[in-house]
Amino acid sequence: MPIDATQPYDDSNIFARILRGEIPSTKAYEDEHVLAFNDINALAPTHILVIPKGSYVSWDDFSERGSDQEIGAFVRAVGKIARDRGLVGSGYRLLANVGPDSGQEVPHLHVHIFGGKPLGPMLT
Ligand code: IMP
Repeated sequence: MPIDATQPYDDSNIFARILRGEIPSTKAYEDEHVLAFNDINALAPTHILVIPKGSYVSWDDFSERGSDQEIGAFVRAVGKIARDRGLVGSGYRLLANVGPDSGQEVPHLHVHIFGGKPLGPMLT
């Protein structure tokens, strides 16, 4: 069910539970501010979700309330993961759903990294 990205942060969401270690995930990257793990329903050979460790509902929330340090760490982590996975030469796609029209399902900001095959004009 798509979420309302203007709602206050709800720390019972599934990614908050992954961050707390209550639900397992296949970790792809971690630093002080960022966690990345494989999407449970991969739509490409590489399909990684990158999330900030802070409590942000969406890209909109993060870009408004996130510190420069958190935002910098997040952007750098996305780039590093793509480089480390060897995706830069062949290319890859970043996607962040925000709110109901996008179909955002989990109310904790996440950026999808898709790669490992020609992705076509859109994934949907
Ligand atoms: P959204 O539609 O952009 O909100 O994407 C949510 C993504 O989270 C989907 O691609 C789901 O497959 C993924 N997802 C949901 N639950 C889990 C989980 O427990 N582990 C990893 N990925 C998940």
